[in-house]
Amino acid sequence: MEDIDRFERIAGSIHIHTTFSGGNLSPEEVVASAQGKGIKVLALTDYSDRKWEYHRICINRASVLKFGVRKYLDELKSVAGKNPDVIIICGLETSPFYYWEGNFLKPVCRDYNKHIIVLGLTEPDDFENMPLLARKNSGYDQYSGSHGIDPYQKLIDYANLRGGLTFWAHPEMEDDFHFLNARSYTPAYAEDLKRSLNYTGFSVFPRGEKLAEPGGCWDEILCDYCRGRRGKPVWVIAETDYRKQSDDICNPVTVFVSAVRDEEDVYNALSNGKVYVLESSSRSLYLDSFTIVDGAADNAASIGESLRTRSDVIKVCARIDSSIPLRTVNLVKNGAVMSETTQSVFEYTDKNCTSGQYQKSFYRLQAENINGDRLLTNPIFVERFQ
Ligand SMILES: [Zn+2]
Repeated sequence: MEDIDRFERIAGSIHIHTTFSGGNLSPEEVVASAQGKGIKVLALTDYSDRKWEYHRICINRASVLKFGVRKYLDELKSVAGKNPDVIIICGLETSPFYYWEGNFLKPVCRDYNKHIIVLGLTEPDDFENMPLLARKNSGYDQYSGSHGIDPYQKLIDYANLRGGLTFWAHPEMEDDFHFLNARSYTPAYAEDLKRSLNYTGFSVFPRGEKLAEPGGCWDEILCDYCRGRRGKPVWVIAETDYRKQSDDICNPVTVFVSAVRDEEDVYNALSNGKVYVLESSSRSLYLDSFTIVDGAADNAASIGESLRTRSDVIKVCARIDSSIPLRTVNLVKNGAVMSETTQSVFEYTDKNCTSGQYQKSFYRLQAENINGDRLLTNPIFVERFQ
């Protein structure tokens, strides 16, 4: 196998809370805690709001909107200026909507923890004017029941119009807690990934077990894209959900496979799926390369890219670097496992890359070593033309 360029190992820690929204560390301290740990990109995503209103009762806890968006942005800009070796991304974790069920004796707050991470906005006004129930500018209130996907789609559309990126956070997490006589309950919301459109992606590690299974919800969405039923693919990222010193800021990570020198490079990479996700506390597992080559025309495509080919035959090449033996390496095509191995270097020839109902196909890779460290790539697409 020819020596192809190895992916860089630029690790990003995404989904971080600071003292702006209940985290224990200031943005400055968060950056300091990441120093020397191989983290190049830090995406700070404090809560937009943590405000619950039930008729005359209102709880309003620390959040970016409470402190002030400009203060948040200024502070992050100042920290970024002092730490040029890290790329600091300024984002928000939002709760677009919630609603009340039950009665005064036992009120239940539904779906508050259905969170969407917004990255890539630059104007303070764009942060400030997001359509969120807590800001009373979304057109929804908390007393008229569920509105399905609409409040979330509204936020996604808003961000898209302003060049922002949106990621569903922890879609498989159920959240249930009680305070006084009230309860806050958010069931897992993986199905919302299928109901919503045009968002950038979702967080798969550490809590995306079923979503990313071969043939699971993510593959269904990617198949819909390949069949022309969706305009955009959906990408995976990992989230650290970092809040305090004892949390691990570098596990799981989102690894960039293209060069990133500044914020714009980071947004471009995330927007185009040029990342894979890695869960490895010992840093014993990396992906060195994952490429699809078209024998006929000598074209190649890598993670997040699309290979246009006239040929039926393509070759998938991958190289994994694991200091510990691999337990399994799965190549998934259109939702089904095409090849399973324990080899760190492999090639797979597909003689029928697109067929029948598919205008496009997708290939993605999942690997795990015997330590339980695992990685998952975004797909490579193959598109036939005559
Ligand atoms: Zn959250």
